Amino acid sequence: KNQGRGRCVEFDQSMDQAAQEHAQLAADLSVAIDRNELALVYQPIVTLPHGELSGVEALVRWQHPVRGFVSPVEFIPVAERTGLITALGAWVLYEACQQGAAWLRELGPAAPGRISVNVSARQLIEPDFPTVVEAALLASGLPAEKLTVEITETAVFDGGPALVAVNAMKDLGVRVALDDFGTGHSSLGLLRTVPIDVLKVDKSFVDGVGQSPEQEAIITSLSQIGSAMRLVVVAEGVETGAQADRLYELGYRYAQGYHFARPLKAPEIAGFALKPSPV
Ligand code: C2E
Ligand code: MG
Ligand code: MG
Ligand code: MG
Repeated sequence: KNQGRGRCVEFDQSMDQAAQEHAQLAADLSVAIDRNELALVYQPIVTLPHGELSGVEALVRWQHPVRGFVSPVEFIPVAERTGLITALGAWVLYEACQQGAAWLRELGPAAPGRISVNVSARQLIEPDFPTVVEAALLASGLPAEKLTVEITETAVFDGGPALVAVNAMKDLGVRVALDDFGTGHSSLGLLRTVPIDVLKVDKSFVDGVGQSPEQEAIITSLSQIGSAMRLVVVAEGVETGAQADRLYELGYRYAQGYHFARPLKAPEIAGFALKPSPV
């Protein structure tokens, strides 16, 4: 089918093997939650220019018993195709809310101000998605305004059910972030129709910082548009101090990236939160 309609291609061994591996991965993933193989790590989102902790983004990790570490880039699409994303996504939400509430109890005012959770397109349009979010907040005691859900442009591109879900988040008091901004289609159009709170400017734009006036023009205008719309604008994938300095000059007040911190285990976030400010 990959090669177009009405064609007949000899079935080859490698195709068979890829399909088998895929099926095996899906089967393994279906038991991964119960076997405690999934874990969350948390990457700091910081304020510029000093890099103080503002919030964290929860990122899922899978420690497969045989394959070892499997990247979410590999298994989230599998979870989406098989429908496992429902259970996986609910697990991530519960776990992240529990951790967010625990930090509030343990760290008080030093706790991460917000916790972001990635929500995939398919998860977002499930009719009971808002109910799952509400249940995770209630079960953990995390105040709704501490939670941000990150969605992508492709998830809300078709409008309809995704927009209903976004509005349900607003009703709950949960913030909504548009993730990887600028990499999908109709990015600017979406800003008019989807009531978001946070704009996460994709790493591919951040990589252009300091590269050329043309690339910096895009980066600058993204922060200007976001600020004019009273959005929180976050630069993603900041890897160097030079990028961070320049982003600050170009109007950015929030950033995330390896320059400040890699994704960390929950106890390490306490260390990051309590460390004296670098200035
Ligand atoms: P994302 O939401 O855009 O998350 C940011 C990704 O960029 C993370 O990769 C993070 O580790 C990486 N990153 C952060 N700073 C830097 C940097 O300075 N340089 C570079 N090169 N990379 C950086 P990760 O954890 O592998 O996650 C990849 C993607 O998988 C995420 O992209 C997100 O779309 C998805 N994902 C992760 N966790 C979940 C989840 O719980 N649910 C869903 N639905 N998707 C998730
Ligand atoms: Mg994200
Ligand atoms: Mg992102
Ligand atoms: Mg990204």
